[in-house]
Amino acid sequence: MTTRLPIATQQAVMRCLRHYIDLANNYLHTSYPEPKVSYRQRGTTAGTAHLTQWEIRLNSVLLAENGQTFIDEVIPHELAHLLVYKQFGRVAPHGSEWQWVMEQVLGVSASRTHCFDVLSVQGKTFPYQCECQTHLLTVRRHNKVLRKESEYRCKKCGTLLKPEEHLD
Ligand SMILES: [Zn+2]
Ligand SMILES: [Zn+2]
Repeated sequence: MTTRLPIATQQAVMRCLRHYIDLANNYLHTSYPEPKVSYRQRGTTAGTAHLTQWEIRLNSVLLAENGQTFIDEVIPHELAHLLVYKQFGRVAPHGSEWQWVMEQVLGVSASRTHCFDVLSVQGKTFPYQCECQTHLLTVRRHNKVLRKESEYRCKKCGTLLKPEEHLD
């Protein structure tokens, strides 16, 4: 389900990211590096912020379908999560700190949710982690874990799969 992204799209992503990280560093008097960007976000989620990895994962399908609108919305949203984590630690995901970063630091409106058409990506999977890699569990398996009916182990390293920690 990964879509090949045109180079121009990836360049537009990096341009946008650079713009906002520069704004943030100027405003906050910091020198945060550009976060790592990957395009392996699956399912109906547009993007996620991986706080300790300083990484933004983007949904390549939704990005390809929505182009610049996606970039302008999702990049500042996820970057704000990373900045909040650095500045304030673990706080409410879309709380006052996040809204402050969005509006004051990055100068964009703090709408919490994206509204992209997700019809094409509806076979949702959930990322889980063992000690060695990321596993994608189906909705059915994910629900079994939530209801504590099953647990799953990695065939390679043998450790228990745990839901991956991230913020949408
Ligand atoms: Zn493993
Ligand atoms: Zn969010």
